[in-house]
Order: sequence, then C-alpha cells, then structure tokens
Amino acid sequence: MLNFFRRKKNATPKPNRIREHSLRRQITDANALNVIEVLNANGFQAYLVGGCVRDALCGVKPKDFDVATDAPLEAVSKLFRRSRIVGRRFPIVHVRFGRDLIEVSTFRQSISDKVVHDDRGMILRDNAFGTLHEDAFRRDFTTNALYYDPGSDEIIDFVDGVKDIEKKRLRFIGDTQTRLAEDPVRMLRAMRFSAKLGFTIDPQILRHAKETAKRLEAVSPARLFDEFLKLFLNGYAEVVWRQLRKTPIANAMFPCCDPNSPLALAAMRNTDERILSGASVTPGFLVAVLLWDDFCARGKDQEALEDDPAFATLKHQQSYVAVPRRFGTFAREVWLIQERLHKRNPRSLDRLVTHKRFRAGYDFLCLQAESDELIAPIADWWTEFQAADESQRQALISQLPKAPRKRRRNRSRRKSTESAQEEGS
Ligand code: ATP
Ligand code: MG
Repeated sequence: MLNFFRRKKNATPKPNRIREHSLRRQITDANALNVIEVLNANGFQAYLVGGCVRDALCGVKPKDFDVATDAPLEAVSKLFRRSRIVGRRFPIVHVRFGRDLIEVSTFRQSISDKVVHDDRGMILRDNAFGTLHEDAFRRDFTTNALYYDPGSDEIIDFVDGVKDIEKKRLRFIGDTQTRLAEDPVRMLRAMRFSAKLGFTIDPQILRHAKETAKRLEAVSPARLFDEFLKLFLNGYAEVVWRQLRKTPIANAMFPCCDPNSPLALAAMRNTDERILSGASVTPGFLVAVLLWDDFCARGKDQEALEDDPAFATLKHQQSYVAVPRRFGTFAREVWLIQERLHKRNPRSLDRLVTHKRFRAGYDFLCLQAESDELIAPIADWWTEFQAADESQRQALISQLPKAPRKRRRNRSRRKSTESAQEEGS
C-alpha cells in the first residue's frame, strides 16, 4: 500500500497532448525536420522546442530552431557530419546546414547536484541530463517549454504553455524569485519576448527588477552583449527600451546613460525603422548613442584629459555590457567626427564627405537634431550640402559662421604649452 502511494507521488505528471493546431503548416524548415528524423531513426526521442514552437503558435515566422532530445551530445554529434559540441555553461550541439544552424540539446534537469550554483543561487553550470518532463521544468517561461513532435503532429505541454500563449502572457515555470536568482538574464528575456510578441509580463516578475538589476553584476559582460544584440537589433528596440528604462536594469547595463535621454529613444526608434525597411544596422551606432553623454562629459573634464575620453568611456563600459572592440572603434569614430561636422572647415569638407564614418556621423547628428534646436540647423546644412551641386555648395560654405577667434587662440596657447613641456622634458 505504502509503495503504491510512493510510486504515485513520484510518477511523472502526464502532459497535455495537443492535436488541434497549425504547426505542420507553419514549421516547414527542412533542416530542423531532418535533424528530428535522423534522431528518431536512430531510436532517440527528439522534439522542436522553445522559440520556434512559441513563435509559430503566435503566427510569427520562427527565426531559428532548437531541438531537444534524449540522445547524449556525443551521439548527436556523431550522427551529423557538420556538427560540434559548444558551450561550457550549457553544452549543446550545433548542427550546420550551409548557413543554417540547428541547436540540439540533451534533456536536462534543473534540480540535481550536477547543477552548479553560486552562493546566491545563480546557476553557473548545468550538465545534469534528465527526462523530457524534467527538461520542461528547467526552462524559463511556460511559453518556452512546449515540445512539438513532427512525427505525431502533437504539441506536448507540461506547464499550460499553450494556455499562456492564448492569453498572451509570460509566466515563469515555478517560483519567480528563484528563477530570477538562478539567472537574472531571464528578466531581459521577459522584456524581449514581451516586446516581440506583445505579451504581458507577469507583474510578479517586474516586481523583482531592483534586485535583478543588482544580480546582473554577476553575469558575464560578454553574455550581456549577446543579449543586448537580441534586445535591440531585432526590430522592437523602442518597445524594449521603454520597458527597460522604467526599471533600474537600464542603468545596470549602461550606468553612464541617462535612461530618459531623448537621443537614446530616437535611436531605438530609428533602428527599428531601418530594420523594417531592410537597411543595415550596427550595434556600434547604438553604443555611440548610449555612451555619448559619458564621452562628452569626459571630454569636458580637463583633469582627465591625459586619457583619450573615447577610450576611457569604452573602458568603463566593459565591466557592464562588454562592447567588442570593432563596435567600440565604430562608436569612437562616430564621436570623433561630430566635432568636424559641427565646425565644417571649408578646406576639408570634400575629404569629410568621403570619410568612412561620414554617413553614420551624419545620421547621429540628425538624431541629435530631433531634440536639440542648436544642432538642427547644422544637420539641415549637411542635408542641403549633400544634395547640392558645386555652385550651391559654395553658397552654403559662404553662409558658414566664421570660426570664433578665441578658440583658435586657446588652441595655439595649448600647443605652445605642449611644446614648452616637450622642450622642458
Ligand atoms: P529566440 O530564439 O527567439 O531568442 P528562444 O526562446 O528560442 O527565443 P533561445 O535562447 O534560443 O530562446 O533558447 C531556446 C530555449 O531554451 C528557450 O525557449 C527556453 O526554453 C530555453 N532557455 C533559453 N535560455 C534560458 C534561460 N536563461 N533559462 C531557462 N531556459 C532557457
Ligand atoms: Mg531559439
């Protein structure tokens, strides 16, 4: 009798198996289906899971495909020629088909002594493999824990994820505080999915924004840059930014950026418009925007002038959201060209318009002009200058205010002190 109860208590809960849906028509990616077929043919369970199932159920075209299987990673890797095991924190297999990438993970469990936590409950490593049921419960949101079996055309749902998709809400599986302590990046993911799909975030989650902002300090700045790309370069940056800046998290990511900066908001909107129209976007531009005030402040701080203010700004940012060098260089070039765009030295205008960062620098100026009436005439001048023929350009140049003499004197004074110092040294 006792045994009977014990077995019943520990029995795996039966998932909902949903047959009424339109996924067969929505998920047609040959490579993803092929990975599942190969795994099934070799005796393994395999399902599509995560964002692709969630997005397809919302009528959004999935952007990538994740597969969950009971096959060990080494077995998966052996079955596909162009595949390799990647990731230290959460190892998975990348299976490549030309430029396409399918990410295959072995079922994991979240409660095990193989899951390594830090002293505040953050998961550092998770190599504990488990069953399908355990795998569902280690995922973040109910909407992300749906498995699609293309063979039987069924959705397997342990956590009422389909209901939450219908209700358009993002809810953690399990206790909110614990899930955020395990991984504070989940808060950013909530904001991203909410912006992308128009879902409401469970208010319980947002209530923990303050402590989550603090916890983000323990997350690797490189991982936060990956998340930054997903947040702001997918066509819904403005919605994300509006949400993020209501919380202390914006500040935890970019401590030197005023969350209410009109320039930042304009840049987010502009990034979305560019993505929508198929224009190119670079994270370097957003970095330039978000760190602009800090760069200017450091430039003005005469005492700190021994350091290049651009380098100092970028260096300081590295311990929060780390910006890879090439994007930092891009931001620096955009900043440095601003002074030249303001000055409009008639002798170097032709060189300036062919400068590799002229276009980005001009776009930056135009965004500033949206909220700064002193900059608006300069941006307009450049807009006219670019469209003008040679004689019109000369007319525009002749309208330029003469360079203030005082500045020049300052410069020459600085030069002479510099040379005096050089001589003295
Ligand atoms: P998208 O691909 O649109 O970014 P996604 O939900 O597929 O969204 P991925 O980062 O590709 O996100 O992760 C795939 C799945 O892995 C998620 O749907 C979720 O089930 C699980 N997952 C990812 N990151 C986490 C996390 N930090 N905590 C728990 N589960 C996660
Ligand atoms: Mg995904």
